[in-house]
Amino acid sequence: MIREPQGLIDTFGRPLRNLRLSVTDRCNLRCQYCMPEEEYVWLPRETLLTFEEVAVLVEVFTDLGVDKVRLTGGEPLLRKELPTLVRLLAQNLRLQDLAMTTNGVLLADQAQALYEAGLHRVTVSLDTLKPDRFQALTRRDSHAKVLHGIKAAIQAGFHNLKLDTVVMRGYNEDELVDLLEYGKRLGAEVRFIEYMDVGGATHWSMQKVLSRAAILEVLRRHYGRIEPVMERGSAPAERFRLSDGTCFGIIASTTAPFCSACDRSRLTADGLWLLCLYATEGTNLRQPLRAGASPAALKSLIVSGWQARRDRGAETRQGLEQLGIRSTLIQLDQLRTDPHLEMHTRGG
Ligand code: SAM
Repeated sequence: MIREPQGLIDTFGRPLRNLRLSVTDRCNLRCQYCMPEEEYVWLPRETLLTFEEVAVLVEVFTDLGVDKVRLTGGEPLLRKELPTLVRLLAQNLRLQDLAMTTNGVLLADQAQALYEAGLHRVTVSLDTLKPDRFQALTRRDSHAKVLHGIKAAIQAGFHNLKLDTVVMRGYNEDELVDLLEYGKRLGAEVRFIEYMDVGGATHWSMQKVLSRAAILEVLRRHYGRIEPVMERGSAPAERFRLSDGTCFGIIASTTAPFCSACDRSRLTADGLWLLCLYATEGTNLRQPLRAGASPAALKSLIVSGWQARRDRGAETRQGLEQLGIRSTLIQLDQLRTDPHLEMHTRGG
């Protein structure tokens, strides 16, 4: 198939390259920073895109320049037969990077099948090494399963594993060194994520955010010299190197947003295409797809959506902070009326 002329860009000149693909809104954890409620309004099952529908949409996206897809959720491993989807997507040779973000609870059982199906990379979310803390944060007793899943993924062949840690003041700021050392032992790169005020984070406050500067300060006190790795492109993480060569990342979306380089968009499990993690509206791609729209028609929807993109959600949030009016993004009652506003629906 002929590739679209290079250069589909939005109003700020940002290319369309990265697609976060949520395969389910369901999750088997209830992390306080993402899903503080026990019960949620779930997407109706019949609205979830089938694997074939996902593959058609990904084909259209890759025609337009997307070359990186990350499977996410909810918890992607809750989607039945996920390796089947991976196998379908892995046939799309324009995808240079096919990755998945998971909480790891179900990873031990599925790592081998996912690797064999053609998944390139895995990122596991790991906020603490302490089982009791894990239980307090996630309200589930699955910490041992996560650690087991991480090891199983490495054994399956995912050697370039990443570990994502949301850092929260008063929760895990005393574990940054332990987490880095844990990653070092496994050969996995740790990325510290600033706590973000996304939809669903109804307990968020600026006081609970440990900034990139504070994270670096904690690590400097322990390790001494830390150097930036000069390579930043559109990747959300800025990378740093310890004097022994160990690299780690910081994703400072809250205090140092990188909207100007953001080439990411998101597709929810029911086919809503979102241009920003903070976007309150999106384009429904399921409807035209199920109504028989041709790939060309879908393409033109995506092209016009991307060309009109003006989103810079994280910077806008930071602007509110400077005015002293930054608080929870979306209130609970509003979240209940539209699950698409939730982080767990749009995927991290
Ligand atoms: N269930 C999978 C997992 O846990 O990795 C994938 C979905 S989860 C929404 C994706 C990522 O978003 C996780 O690394 C999670 O820690 C992160 N996340 C969720 N809420 C967040 C928040 N308020 N601030 C920063 N990161 C958050």
